[in-house]
Amino acid sequence: MAIRIDGKVISTQIKDELKEKVAVLKAEGTEVTLAVIQVGNDPASSVYVGNKKKACEYIGVRSLAYELPEETTQQELLEIIADLNKREDVNGILVQLPLPKHFNEEEILLAISPLKDVDGFHPENVGNLSIGRKGFVSCTPAGVIELLKRTGIEMEGKECVVLGRSNIVGKPMSMLMLRENATVTVCHSRTKNLKEITKRADILIVAIGKPRFVTADYVKEGATVIDVGIHRGADNKLCGDVDFAEVEPIAGAITPVPGGVGPMTIAMLMKNCVESVELQK
Ligand code: NAP
Repeated sequence: MAIRIDGKVISTQIKDELKEKVAVLKAEGTEVTLAVIQVGNDPASSVYVGNKKKACEYIGVRSLAYELPEETTQQELLEIIADLNKREDVNGILVQLPLPKHFNEEEILLAISPLKDVDGFHPENVGNLSIGRKGFVSCTPAGVIELLKRTGIEMEGKECVVLGRSNIVGKPMSMLMLRENATVTVCHSRTKNLKEITKRADILIVAIGKPRFVTADYVKEGATVIDVGIHRGADNKLCGDVDFAEVEPIAGAITPVPGGVGPMTIAMLMKNCVESVELQK
């Protein structure tokens, strides 16, 4: 039976460590501050924003909430970001995506100062990651690395297959695994003989956005399987991109959904907020 990698326990450990760091910073006169901007009231976004605020509260990070109406214009949002970029009392800026359709998201993300880009989406931070410089790393893939490290799963020299090449998960994930000295293969929708490739993996990281896509015949016996996917089924239950019931008996270690990668994303966002103080010095 596979080891179940418990993202709830590991994310709580990380948040508790951060809580201590935030208290030390506070005692030194620095209040870590995150600005969270939401435009409109998409229910899923409101849940994510609410969870981020709760995590800030838990750790002791001050959160500034910008709940803007749906009719907010691109220019108005750009002006708010410009103001937050200048403010010395604001360390991190997060714009909850997706924005309403009339926004040019790329322009908005580019407007956030790379030094306050705690989501790690700005091209300067993406570039820093690819050439091994300091900077913010996209939270979900950074969370996967923490899960592996804290579970004691060796990455160096291991065959790692990343399934998915999105800008926020697959691509940064592959760069991070390279940084850990894994041998990395990235697969996508045009990959041929997918199962042959995924079956080579010692560590298989799945982020394709297809419910229960990865079945037992994609997985090598004893492999570590990390499921980034998250879907709500018609029965209102959550599931991942991996068919957990099929894969768990043959995997060496596996993340469940929920309770695997999901909780790590917010923990890593909080880590980026705390690290932003150091980066801005
Ligand atoms: P995405 O932008 O839709 O990217 C999906 C990737 O999977 C693409 O690169 C696509 O290939 C590839 N793909 C799709 N179908 C495939 C197939 N049949 N065979 C091989 N590759 C295939 O998705 P994403 O944003 O990376 O998210 C992936 C999943 O992770 C989603 O379920 C999302 O909800 C979840 N997620 C979870 C968290 C979290 O906090 N836990 C955070 C972010 C995302 P092409 O590039 O060729 O199109």
